[in-house]
Amino acid sequence: MTRDRPVVAVYPGSFDPITKGHEDVVRRSLRLADRVVIAVAHTATQEKGSLFSVEQRLALLEEVFQGEERIECRSFRGLLVDLAREVEARFVIRGLRAVSDFEYEFQMAQMNRELWSGVETVFLTPDQKYSFLSASLVREVARLGGDISRFVPEPVLREMEALFRE
Ligand code: ADP
Repeated sequence: MTRDRPVVAVYPGSFDPITKGHEDVVRRSLRLADRVVIAVAHTATQEKGSLFSVEQRLALLEEVFQGEERIECRSFRGLLVDLAREVEARFVIRGLRAVSDFEYEFQMAQMNRELWSGVETVFLTPDQKYSFLSASLVREVARLGGDISRFVPEPVLREMEALFRE
């Protein structure tokens, strides 16, 4: 394989908010790619029950990865394969926590391949201490007053504490 172009990976998701599980996956993907584009999806269905706006999620991602020159954070609308084409991604990163993630992720990967075969989906597993972690569970625990400090990066903890103090 020629290495004339940097290897770009795109990591899409809702990141509402970014958790330590997502962060772990991003850091692992830096071992495979020269650049990682973290892409927050604008999706009507997800925005309905969301906690943070897409802009707030992006600001948090940027704060968590500030100073990391190989990481870019952005949002996107529309098809993931169109974004992958636009940023010239060699692969899409998805995280697999448990078997329960598999069926949905497998379908998505196959559909994306049908839509555009120019990008591969690569699945990464997080450190096992994050294998039970999801953004929705973190939102739920925070809403009910539980301690989420072990599950989210510091900027997210700060914003969530401010939100639930109100
Ligand atoms: P969540 O499922 O937490 O709401 P997203 O919808 O933003 O997260 O998911 C983006 C990607 O990150 C998906 O591929 C998802 O499987 C993965 N992911 C989410 N949480 C974790 C985790 N704790 N460990 C590994 N991958 C994760």
